[in-house]
Amino acid sequence: MNYIKEQNGQLWLTEDERENLKISYRIKEIVYSERSPFQHVMILDSYDFGRMLVLDGVVQTTSIDGHIYNEMITHVPLSLHPSPKKVLIIGGGDCGAAREVAKYEEVEEIHLVEIDELVVQACKEHLPEVSGNLSDPRVQYVYKDGVQFVKDRVNTYDVIIIDSSDPIGPAQVLFEYDFYKSVYEALKEDGMMVCQSQSPIFHMNVLKQTYINIRHLFPHVHVYTATVPTYPGGLWSFTLGAKQAVSFERLTTFAKQTKYVNADVLNQCFCLPQFMKEHLQS
Ligand code: SAM
Repeated sequence: MNYIKEQNGQLWLTEDERENLKISYRIKEIVYSERSPFQHVMILDSYDFGRMLVLDGVVQTTSIDGHIYNEMITHVPLSLHPSPKKVLIIGGGDCGAAREVAKYEEVEEIHLVEIDELVVQACKEHLPEVSGNLSDPRVQYVYKDGVQFVKDRVNTYDVIIIDSSDPIGPAQVLFEYDFYKSVYEALKEDGMMVCQSQSPIFHMNVLKQTYINIRHLFPHVHVYTATVPTYPGGLWSFTLGAKQAVSFERLTTFAKQTKYVNADVLNQCFCLPQFMKEHLQS
């Protein structure tokens, strides 16, 4: 694990983002470190971002900014859908997204399909700021590859949230067209899906391909953004696909208990900067 190094008596995590970009965090303590059949799972206690979940040396979520991402990937689709009852989360092992979905009383079932059980265990035990040690009875944990799980389901879900890690390792398949096609088929006729679609600054190729794939399947596709400090470049994108036209005015009445999201944030998050509009339209 060459991403944890001791320098002058100090411990540092260095995320090897790109050839010419390394992101380093000073670490107080390695709280948890285990290799699963899928990846190296760590919980670190850092000086500036509190506790953080790190998979194969890449920061996934932290106790300082995890809520920004988890609130944006959940409250947008859950607020836009007319009556979300059955929700599927693919990935999301830190349980932060499921915790936000559980704030909707009308939701009857939350299926959390995570390939790596060790991530859920580690986050429940060592990252309660994000996982909330979630024990809501509506949440069913399924430890399986999301691609296999969704293949067997048709016309089942109101909302599908793809809370995946980067398109490398076990998550690579979650960015492929065939997977989005299975997601489309697993949704009910008024269903909608959302996925994290990487950095518009550093991964525009991934965002663009994700947008093209989803637009090929869904009649209504909308990209929105948020700023997540521990994600490379800060600016992060989400892509939403809906089988029926989306009524954005539903966002004006948003009133859930949150730390980042509110009605204004939800309304402006679809306002994209010029470079993104041009890339997505070209
Ligand atoms: N928000 C984070 C990000 O954007 O980087 C991701 C959070 S969540 C921890 C990502 C989860 O997706 C991980 O726990 C990982 O194990 C899981 N995952 C990766 N590939 C998967 C697959 N094919 N099926 C189900 N879960 C998968």
